[in-house]
Parts: sequence; C-alpha cells; structure tokens
Amino acid sequence: MGVRNGQQFIDGLKANPREVWINGERIEDVTTHPAFSRIVRQLARLYDAQVDPATRDTLTYEVPETGQRAGMAFMPAKTAEDLRRRRDAFYHWASMNFGLMGRSPDFLNVSLLAFAEAREVFGRGGQRYADNIVNYYEYVRDNDLFLSHALITPQNDRTKSSAEQKNLHMRVVKETDSGIYVQGARMVATLGAVADEMLMYCLPGIPESDADHALSFAVKVSDPGVRQICREPYTLDGQRSDFDHPLSNNFEENDSLLIFDNVFVPWERVFMYRDVALNNALYTETALRNYTAHQTNTRALVKMQFAVGVAMAVARSIGADKFLHVQRMLGEALNGVVPQERSGAFGGGMRAHVIRHRAARAAAASGASHLPSDSLSEGGGNHPDRGCRRVHDDALGRGFHCARTFRGHQPLLQGCRRDVFARPGTAVQARLGSFRRGVRHPAASVRALLCRRPGSDHRFELPPGAGRRDDAAGERGAGAGRRSRARTQASF
Ligand SMILES: Cc1cc2nc3c(=O)[nH]c(=O)nc-3n(C[C@H](O)[C@H](O)[C@H](O)COP(=O)(O)OP(=O)(O)OC[C@H]3O[C@@H](n4cnc5c(N)ncnc54)[C@H](O)[C@@H]3O)c2cc1C
Repeated sequence: MGVRNGQQFIDGLKANPREVWINGERIEDVTTHPAFSRIVRQLARLYDAQVDPATRDTLTYEVPETGQRAGMAFMPAKTAEDLRRRRDAFYHWASMNFGLMGRSPDFLNVSLLAFAEAREVFGRGGQRYADNIVNYYEYVRDNDLFLSHALITPQNDRTKSSAEQKNLHMRVVKETDSGIYVQGARMVATLGAVADEMLMYCLPGIPESDADHALSFAVKVSDPGVRQICREPYTLDGQRSDFDHPLSNNFEENDSLLIFDNVFVPWERVFMYRDVALNNALYTETALRNYTAHQTNTRALVKMQFAVGVAMAVARSIGADKFLHVQRMLGEALNGVVPQERSGAFGGGMRAHVIRHRAARAAAASGASHLPSDSLSEGGGNHPDRGCRRVHDDALGRGFHCARTFRGHQPLLQGCRRDVFARPGTAVQARLGSFRRGVRHPAASVRALLCRRPGSDHRFELPPGAGRRDDAAGERGAGAGRRSRARTQASF
C-alpha cells in the first residue's frame, strides 16, 4: 500500500470500530467525537504531509525491497546521512504541532524498527519469533499503520509482583496451536483510542515469578475483547474556545487504561512468549532506547524552541525586552535551543547535541547499523535519553520561567475571549485585546521564530470551522467575527 494520506488514516479508523469508553459512555466513532476529532485531524495533517510533493522526500523514503514509499521512521540508518534524514523527518512532523505531540506515529515506528533490527534477540525464544517481528515490522511499514503501546501495569500494589495480583495485570491465560489468549489490564495507552494497533511489550525488571506477564505481541485496536477506558478529556462537548485554548484544543493526546478481555493473539503476532530473561534484556540489547531517544529529543527540541519563542513574544508584547536583565534571561533561554554550528559541545545547545555532533560520531562507532546512541547519552549515564533530558529540562524550564515571569500579573486579569470582546471600546478591553493578540495565541507568537529559519516552511492551520462558535458567541457583529477569524488564520 505505501504511505497513507490523512483521509486514508481517518477511513481506517472508521472501518475498524473499537471499544472506547469515556465519561461512562461508549464512543461510536472516534473520528467525530469532540474528545478525539481534533487530534484525529492533527494526525491526518501529519499523514497528508507524507504525500505532499513539498515534504514527501523529507518525510518518506523508497523501500528498496518493495519500491514503495514508507515513513522515514521505518528507514534503517546505514549512514550518518541516514541519521540526518531521519532527524529532519522527526523535526518536520514535530514542527507541525510545536513539539506538543509526544506520541505521533513516528515514536512507535522507530521502536518497531529497533525490534526488527534486533531479530536475533527475539530469535533466542525460537526462530519463529524472529520471523514474526520482522514480518510485523514490514506489515506496519507497508501499510503505514499508527501504533500505540501500554508498558505499565496498573498501580494498585507496587510491593507485589504481578503474579501475586491475580486477574489484574495483563498475562497469558491460555495457549492453543493457533495462538494465545491474554487477559488483564495495562496502562497508559496514549492516543490508543485513535491508533490502529497496539504493540505490547514490558519495561525491564520483571521477576522470574512473572513469566506469564513477560510477553510481546501486537493486536489490532479493533480486535474483540480489546477495551479502552479513557481519562477525562479537556473537553467532552468540543465547545471550548480556540482563542483561549489554541494548544490543548488541538493537541490533546488522550490516554487510556487498556483492558484485554480474553483477547486472542495468533502466533504470527507473538514476538516474545513467557521469557523473563529476554524481556529484561530488550532495553539493553536492542536499539530501542537509541532510536526512541533520537525521535523524542528531536521533538523535544521543537517544543523548547516553541517555549522560548513564547517567552520572547511575551517580553516584546509588553516592552520588557528593552530591559537588560530580561535580555539576559532571554539570551540564556535562546542559548539552549538555537543551532550551535561550531561548538557542538554538550552544554552549547540542545540542537547541536541532538542533531550534529554526537550522532555522526556514534554512527561511526556503531556496527552494522548507524545508531544515534552516543549522541544522546553523553553526560547522561547509560540511558540515551538522560543526557538530553538534562538539557531539555533546563532549556524548557528557562523558556517557561521567562514566559511566566514576564507575564507577571496578567494571567490573573485576563478574562476569556468573550469578556474581552463583548463590549469593545473601553481602554482596559483595548489593552487586554492587544495583549492577547500578541501573547495569548502562543502559536502566533512563535511563528516568527519558526518562520525566520532559512528554508523553513512550517505552517499551522486550524481545522476548518475551528473557533467558529467562539466567534459567533463572543463577538458583537459579523465584522468582529470576521476580523477575529482572519486574525486567527493569519496568525498561524
Ligand atoms: C501523560 C502520560 C502519558 C503516558 N503515555 C504512555 C504511553 O503511551 N505508553 C506507555 O506504555 N506508558 C505511558 N505512560 C506511563 C509511563 O510510562 C509511566 O507513568 C512511568 O513509566 C511510571 O510508571 P507508573 O506511572 O506506573 O509509576 P510507578 O512505577 O508506580 O512509580 C511511582 C513511584 O513509586 C516508586 N516505585 C514504584 N514501584 C517501586 C518499587 N518496586 N520499588 C521502589 N520504588 C517503587 C517509584 O520510585 C515512583 O516514583 C504515560 C504516563 C503519563 C503520565
């Protein structure tokens, strides 16, 4: 099939009804329910970009074995140039949502690639598991499927092993010639309600007594017995104003409790079976952490740039950027996220760290495949994510700290859009209005930062109809509605 566009992604969700519960009700169609429809559209935008001639080559590659195109996250990195291409793809997709989508499809695509490349590790349990993981990788790649995952057991009693907590944690309950049956709960499936499939595996640290829980397999989200109970969403009725909630309205990734109710999994979809030792080796003996850290930290860089952009816009909007101490704070925040072309040093900038320097070195040092491992681990002990997390926490923290500091008491004073525009004309309302134009749309605030980068073309578009209700309800007169709509669209 090759890469999908957004409509094909949505059609796939509609064609595979799933059991999803929210607020005590079963959702008929996740593509239209207000709690999910916005994020479905955002995901569709990502898929659309894969077939857009302008971004196709950044986001996809031609699979040599099939001649079809596939998402760049599936591409094994054979050279340092491949690493760069993968990073550019992660960066582009993340830029389409300001780095706010932590579980865009590329996250688990890179996990699956790591598993497929480590087929011999899975093969320790038997050759068929090695074959299964490779076949599944090819199936997901060639059909461009969206995976979610649920690694964690529910938090009821952390002093006991899973085996001691019967009938709660997900485990195998029956084995037949054709497959296995699994029963029990897992968490936390971010975007699980709108995914195509669940890739199941566990965190390391499972005790010998938990062999029934040491499984890896895949199911379709629509398989019989797969049930998801979602957390409370930010909106159940879709009536929150886009003006007041531009980010959470558009980029909420709902999480679910995943329940397997005697779910059948055919052997072809089982990758690891009752193997505690192998389960506990997955993170150290595959490139799982390397690949996920590359994607995650590239995405985090975009988010940090966004936070710093917001801080700069806030400072500018009230003239605080003229003060020396504010300039110093902004400079420190910027230092963490702008390219450090020459230094390449760890402390010299997250971007340099993730993108340029270490990736190439790690690539050269690794064996058959070029892994971004060392690129992300220096200063971070043995976890590839940890080194970057230090920079991440620092730079993101600085960005948000600046934005909070410069906004001062303003958040206390702001009403919602309706208050501000209900009776235009007073001095206070005019002041609040101008402030909000500059600042309350953080996406608009950061636009300058994103657009100023040479060659960048990252544009954010609100879905059709977004903000309509707000305009109708909050404005007096069609002119005001038109003005605000025009501003909203132009801002992004
Ligand atoms: C917004 C969000 C989205 C997420 N999305 C996903 C997702 O898409 N897929 C997914 O698989 N997971 C997801 N997670 C889950 C995430 O991986 C877990 O929250 C994380 O691994 C921690 O596990 P936990 O929440 O069960 O905490 P616990 O493991 O229960 O830990 C809680 C605290 O108890 C202590 N503790 C627990 N057990 C022990 C012990 N045996 N010995 C000593 N101390 C102990 C720890 O120190 C810790 O501080 C998500 C989480 C969040 C918050």
